[in-house]
Amino acid sequence: MNFSYLMSTRVIAGAHCVYENRAALAGLGKKALIVTGRNSAKANGAYADLVKALEANGQAHTLFDRVMSNPTVDCAYETAAMIRNEGCDFVIGIGGGSPMDTAKAAAAIAVNPVEKAAVYEASYTKALPLAEIATTAGTGSEVTQYAILTNNEGTLKKSIGAPALFPRVAFLDARYMLNMGRAVTVNTAIDALSHAVEGMLSVRASALSDTLAKESIAIIAGCFGELLSWTETGAVKPPLPQETREKLLFASTLAGMVIAQTGTTSVHAMGYEFTLAWGTDHGRANGLLLEAFLRFIEAKEKTGENGPPRIPAICAALGRGCGEPVELDQFAGILNRLLGAREKADAGQIEAWTERAFLGKKNGYIAATREELGRIFTASVG
Ligand code: NAP
Ligand code: FE
Repeated sequence: MNFSYLMSTRVIAGAHCVYENRAALAGLGKKALIVTGRNSAKANGAYADLVKALEANGQAHTLFDRVMSNPTVDCAYETAAMIRNEGCDFVIGIGGGSPMDTAKAAAAIAVNPVEKAAVYEASYTKALPLAEIATTAGTGSEVTQYAILTNNEGTLKKSIGAPALFPRVAFLDARYMLNMGRAVTVNTAIDALSHAVEGMLSVRASALSDTLAKESIAIIAGCFGELLSWTETGAVKPPLPQETREKLLFASTLAGMVIAQTGTTSVHAMGYEFTLAWGTDHGRANGLLLEAFLRFIEAKEKTGENGPPRIPAICAALGRGCGEPVELDQFAGILNRLLGAREKADAGQIEAWTERAFLGKKNGYIAATREELGRIFTASVG
């Protein structure tokens, strides 16, 4: 057993937790910039709850509500400029990963003099105090020190990260997810599952991160039945009860705590290419790659050259959640039913992506060769 664990975010969960725990916001500053996407924060009640909490605390606030999905570097700088122009001294993100990451990046950019061109390389030693209200389940961004930004040309998705970017407080109130549609629900659940699975296959996995990851995987697997039946019956009105929403939210926060320690692996790096090329939702992009990636790892593990295998523990956690034994074949079947028809890439695209994935950062405990990465892309979307 050998690990170091840092996750400096206070996590507060429960129905009405933002208003009831408004004291947790009181010390963060005098004027907040609230960062959201265009609609959901207002529609699901999170923005109103936050405003009520801030007003009860006597804290001023102003709103930036133009974060797009897969936020750009320009969007983060625009948000940081608003922080400075409005004299805000703390930042609160409400949303899925896109607004939460933008709030995080802007809280750092606002107090570190970093040129746009150096945004990914800069070291962020400080950031304004930050709170996050998660409304998808999800990215786990509410408990990570990463913000993922897309460059302005739309050719690169990359993270910035530093311990100073951990939010001070994360609020988890699953009521905000009750009206979330099927695609966002399923895709974000796959993202969370992918974080937990990739965390277990990271070179930085530890006994502690694995404990969190296995629990996250089991909880999400316990929701597969409801997600599949929603997918296959095509219900228009979201059928998931608050209890299931709470499970998915808890599991996604656990998985965020995992990747805060372990980082993600090639699945995320490769999936970014689908989002850049096709606009594929982030979680779906990971889902398209998971089966081929796991089969690649399993085959490598069978050679016995990489130490104790890790796929069996992932399958055991899936099985614990499903209430029956699960091997990769069954898991692939479930994923395929959730994903439906797959996007298709041509050989030229796959070659270019393979090259980038091969040259990119490696974080898996088993590294893939260029050819192996190409085969994973081909099996996923070829
Ligand atoms: P998102 O882009 O934040 O949101 C997707 C869609 O869901 C938007 O249309 C949004 O609407 C809507 N939405 C949000 N909350 C909702 C709710 N409660 N009910 C109904 N609709 C809701 O999606 P995401 O998957 O959560 O985040 C993806 C981003 O996070 C990507 O850029 C990804 O790279 C990043 N990410 C970050 C980390 C990290 O550690 N920081 C980890 C994984 C992924 P509005 O636009 O109107 O809000
Ligand atoms: Fe992710």
